[in-house]
Amino acid sequence: MSNYKFLYLSKGREVSVLRRHPWIFSGGIKKADEGIKNGDPVLVKSFKDEIVATGHYQNGSIMCRILSFSEAEINIEFYTNKFKNALDYRLQNIGIPNNLTNAYRLIHGEGDGLPGLIIDIYNNTAVVQAHSVGMAKDTVHIIEALKNVFTDNLTTIYNRSKEASYYVKDGLLWGEDKQEDIVLENGKSFLVNWAEGQKTGFFLDQRDNRKLVGDISKGNKVLNLFSYTGGFSIYAMTEGATQVDSIDISDKATLLLDNNVALLSDPPANNSITANVMEYLKEYEGELPFDIIIVDPPAFAKSMKKRHNAIQAYKRLNEAVISKAKKGAVILTFSCSQVVDTALFTGAIVSAGIDAQRDIRIMKQLSQGPDHPINLFHPEGHYLKGLMLSVE
Ligand code: SAH
Repeated sequence: MSNYKFLYLSKGREVSVLRRHPWIFSGGIKKADEGIKNGDPVLVKSFKDEIVATGHYQNGSIMCRILSFSEAEINIEFYTNKFKNALDYRLQNIGIPNNLTNAYRLIHGEGDGLPGLIIDIYNNTAVVQAHSVGMAKDTVHIIEALKNVFTDNLTTIYNRSKEASYYVKDGLLWGEDKQEDIVLENGKSFLVNWAEGQKTGFFLDQRDNRKLVGDISKGNKVLNLFSYTGGFSIYAMTEGATQVDSIDISDKATLLLDNNVALLSDPPANNSITANVMEYLKEYEGELPFDIIIVDPPAFAKSMKKRHNAIQAYKRLNEAVISKAKKGAVILTFSCSQVVDTALFTGAIVSAGIDAQRDIRIMKQLSQGPDHPINLFHPEGHYLKGLMLSVE
């Protein structure tokens, strides 16, 4: 079939592949054919000389990202099938896109069988993020496959991956040169700029948690810490909150929030404050007069080395919030650090609660939305975890 070169596994190392883990680490590879280049598709052979996978080769600790657990041709047709499956799953199992929601994640890396690739859809635009050399090199296939799947409702394909710029031009990949659009999420409008925004422009993973905040906002005062474009704030404002304060360290972010507030016909009292959350909390005199507090910081740990410090940072931040929260306040607190798992994050919150000397109940465990599915055999994909707390 294909004329791909081979990677040969050491004895017994096919076990993780048979368990369908999508990565092969360098330690498991006995030898590689000559001439394999970074990002090339390769076939993986077990010690028994059987082909057990096809994947992207990359020199590093993860040496192969598996795209198929058999021999496959990685071409436009391959990506078209993957994208079709991903869209069917979202339409049938989640019910998106629909007339109230046209912003969603189409491809969530390992969760959609495509390690190294993220694709977010914003109305008629697809924003592509390649996290591996293989995906960056395959961008040309990816563009054609997207056009095959979204036949009449795709106008723009945009590139937000640094790696890909070595192989294809950065920015606009195909279609109309647009950098922003007003998108809908649960019937609420947001201005998303995928050219300049963080990640691909919007944090789609919080959709269900934003809805949850909307559901309990009526008549309440809401504090949104680390607000970015104000996703949580807009849900609170449109669902009857009496006041919403939003804090972000970046001027740009508070401006984006103000643009989103400007899309509302009748916003309640709201303050967007450019400040460091830790300083804001430290300087806040007395009790925080808010009924609902959202704590959604950026990833504190991007690697294992930083994990310990990150756990301490989550603890300090949450202790500062909990100790000033009023009785009965609801706190939604999150971690999006991949290396801090649910148990470690919960431990950090427990120790924050102990030091703040407050009684706290967990109302609900929170996670990323189902358009960010987690491959059962790749639990690392569960990066967003959260707790909804009631402070007594
Ligand atoms: N909750 C948002 C996403 C938050 S992303 C949403 O639903 O869309 C994290 C945000 O934290 C970024 O906008 C970043 O500018 C901000 N940030 C990072 N460090 C900060 C700090 N020390 N104080 C305040 N904001 C901070």
